[in-house]
Amino acid sequence: MNNVLQSDKLHNVNYEIRGPVLDYANQLEADGQQVMKLNIGNPGAFGFDAPDEIMRDVIHNLRSAQGYSHSKGLFSARKAVVQRYQLQGVNGLDVDDVIMGNGVSELIVMAMQGLLNANDEILIPAPDYPLWTAAVAISGGSPVHYQCDEDQDWQPCLADIESKITACTRGIVIINPNNPTGAVYSEEILRSLVALAEKHNLIVFADEIYDRIVFDGSVHHPLSFLTKNTLCLTFNGLSKTYRLAGFRSGWMLISGAKANAKSYLEGLEMLASMRLCANVPAMLAVQTALGGRQSINDLILPGGRLLAQRDLCLELLTAIPGVSCVKPKSAMYLFFELDPALYPIENDEMFVLELLKEQHLLIVQGSAFNCQDTQHFRIVFLPDKDLLVEAIARLANFLLAYRQ
Ligand code: PLP
Repeated sequence: MNNVLQSDKLHNVNYEIRGPVLDYANQLEADGQQVMKLNIGNPGAFGFDAPDEIMRDVIHNLRSAQGYSHSKGLFSARKAVVQRYQLQGVNGLDVDDVIMGNGVSELIVMAMQGLLNANDEILIPAPDYPLWTAAVAISGGSPVHYQCDEDQDWQPCLADIESKITACTRGIVIINPNNPTGAVYSEEILRSLVALAEKHNLIVFADEIYDRIVFDGSVHHPLSFLTKNTLCLTFNGLSKTYRLAGFRSGWMLISGAKANAKSYLEGLEMLASMRLCANVPAMLAVQTALGGRQSINDLILPGGRLLAQRDLCLELLTAIPGVSCVKPKSAMYLFFELDPALYPIENDEMFVLELLKEQHLLIVQGSAFNCQDTQHFRIVFLPDKDLLVEAIARLANFLLAYRQ
């Protein structure tokens, strides 16, 4: 029998967060070994539970979730999303401007599938959340990476972006707050990015899934508020702020210059109908989650568990010789750098594999985020204090051996 081959469409698609290194970790676990998996931002796996109130309301309404919903989602969920942005000053929104999805992930792929033709280019930050790059590639477009500057707190480099805009550029992805860097972009940078997008008629794709997980008094500025003269699609959901990653629920908000985008928006509606609807039980959580008390604040303000873990992880990590890290203002990751003078790394994926083999600690190499060098790595700071101390001790041991 002939070999069963994957589609050519997948040839340019790279998705290493769940790649070969993870396969090795799974094998270790299958062999009865314990692995510290600090590779994915999965709050529920580390005891960050969703509020009871959300669970209660979902359970209470579960019987009503047996059938398909409207292909764009439950009215109550979409209304709650609209109201959330209204409260942030975004005008002219309607429930029709919201498409609910099975997590932001599905909506990212949908947004690219509905837009791109061969040769179309999308500007994506480097480092990035790699699903964006993969979604552009699988949709037949070309991802073009723009640099974010580590020396400027990982803010996007405007000159680099401008130099990469061509006649084929259709849109720009802005991940703010950022994964993997934890950067929160300044209002000034965001306004400049929007001005560039408006000047060149680019669609703004705003991935704002960490917008409520901000530390140290940082302020997040929603792009739906700042963008007026070009189309803006904002992506967000329940996975992080509400610790409900397994529910697979997210939304896409359409704002800005909608009038010129009729054809694209019809395409998005068609794609939404083709998958009938998003997960209905999970959409029952949206209204309760978005309204009322925001329990995430208990975790990110002084005294909060997530903030304390960020501080501890940063302190322990940067105490290791040759390890530096820009302090993240958001999210749940440290994106650190190993000094090449002490740790000359040729292949960062092999480095991560060796760390896994020797210390049973799983982190992610920078190249998986389309980072240009081989010296950066991402670690998740979701584990509680004791586990973090253990994880960083394992990393320190590994690096000590590497130096010697
Ligand atoms: N966007 C960013 C920047 C992320 O970090 C993640 C998950 O880590 C996602 C999107 C995916 O979110 P969802 O669980 O809603 O699919």
